[in-house]
Amino acid sequence: MSEFLEELTRLQHDGISFKGETLNVKVNAFICDAPARAFLKCIKGHNVYNSCERCTIEGKYVNHRVVFNYQPQEKILSRTEEEFSSLSYPFHQNGLSPLVDAGLSCIQSFSLDYMHLVCLGVVRRLLVFLKQGPRECKISQRQIREISSKLESLNGKLPREFARQPRSLASLERWKATEFRQFLLYTGPVVLRDVLPDSFYHHFLTLTVAMSILLDADDDTRKAYTAYAEELLMHFYKTSTKLYSPIFPSYNVHSLIHLAEDVRHFGTSLNEICAFPFENHLHKLKKSIRNATNPISQLSKRITEMDNAKVHTIPAPHRASVSTKMKDSCFMFGDGFAFVKEKRSDKMCVCDLFHLDSLESFFDRPCDSKLLNIARLRDERRPGKRKLIEQKELKKKVVCLPYGNGFVFMPMLHGSERH
Ligand SMILES: [Zn+2]
Repeated sequence: MSEFLEELTRLQHDGISFKGETLNVKVNAFICDAPARAFLKCIKGHNVYNSCERCTIEGKYVNHRVVFNYQPQEKILSRTEEEFSSLSYPFHQNGLSPLVDAGLSCIQSFSLDYMHLVCLGVVRRLLVFLKQGPRECKISQRQIREISSKLESLNGKLPREFARQPRSLASLERWKATEFRQFLLYTGPVVLRDVLPDSFYHHFLTLTVAMSILLDADDDTRKAYTAYAEELLMHFYKTSTKLYSPIFPSYNVHSLIHLAEDVRHFGTSLNEICAFPFENHLHKLKKSIRNATNPISQLSKRITEMDNAKVHTIPAPHRASVSTKMKDSCFMFGDGFAFVKEKRSDKMCVCDLFHLDSLESFFDRPCDSKLLNIARLRDERRPGKRKLIEQKELKKKVVCLPYGNGFVFMPMLHGSERH
C-alpha cells in the first residue's frame, strides 16, 4: 500500500487544484468484501473464531465450520479504534495495518458492504439452507417447485431499471448479487408467502423490513426507524439458530447486527456505502477487454484511447423511465400510488390514482407493511381516480407485482441497475 499511502498523504496535505480552487481530500470509507478488508486491515480471515470486525464475540467450531451463535451481550465488547491502533486484539489482528500509521480509522471507516454481506452472504445462505440444508429447515421438492414457478411467473413484471428478471431456484448457483437483492426486497415476500411455514416466512420478513429501512434514501424516515431495524436484525440473528440449525449463523449472519452502526456513522442509506457501483463499473471494464492476453495493457490502451478522443461518459440522469407499459407505469404519488395510463406530452400524463389508506396492508408482522409504503390492491378491476398530472409529480418508481386477483405495490429502494 506504500504507493497509495504516499499519494494519499500528499493529497491530504496539498489538496487537489481544480478550476483555480483547492479542494481538501479526506478518506471517508473503504468499501470492499471481507477478504479484502482482512488484507487491508491486517486482520485474520472471516473464518476464524475472532473474525468479527466490530465486536469481540468468539465463534465456535461446529461441523467443520466456525459459527457465531448468539451470546449474551455482557461478555461481548465493541472493538475500538484505540485498541485496534495499539494492537490489542492478538486473536483478531495479524499485525499493525499501515493505514493506522497513516492516521486512518480501521473500524468505522470500513463499511460492512451489504452487497457481499447481505445479498451474496445471508440471502444466498438462507436460500441454500431452504433448498438443501439440514433437516430442520430443508423444504420439500414440491415447495421448491412452487417457489420457482412463482418466480418464473414474475419474469417480465419488474421495471426496466432491473438488470435481470426473476428466474427459478434451479439456477440459484448462478444468481448474481442483484438477483439476491431483488429476492430480498421485492419478489421474496410475494413468492414465499403461503409456501414457507409461518415462522420461516415471518423470519424472512424481518430481514426484508430491516433492510428496506436501512436502504431508505429519505433521511428522516431512515433515521426515525434505524433503531427498530437494528432490533429486527438482532431478532433475525438470534432466532436463525432455532429455525435454520446451529450451523447457520456464519460470520455474515452475525455481522448483520452491526449494519445499523454504518447507517448512523455515515449518515446515509446503505446504498451509498456498498459495492454495487464498483461491481457495475467492473462490468464495464471487463467489456473493454477483448481476449485473455495482457488484460491490464489492453485496459490501459482503451482508457488512453478514450482520454485522447475526449470521450467522457456523462452519467445518465437518475430519472426513472415513465411508460404506459404495466411494469414501468407505477409510481409513488402524494400519499399513494399512480398508474400512468396515457402520456399527453413530455410533461403531462393521465394517471389512475390509489390512496394508501384505501388499500390493504400486504403483511402486518413484524410491522404494518404500509409503514414501508408496501400495500395490496385486492382486485385489479377496482378503478382508481383518473387525473391529469404533471410527470414531475411522480415520485419513486414502484415495483408492482401481480398477487391473487390484484397487485402488491413495493417502492423501489435503489437506482437503476442498468448502465
Ligand atoms: Zn460482532
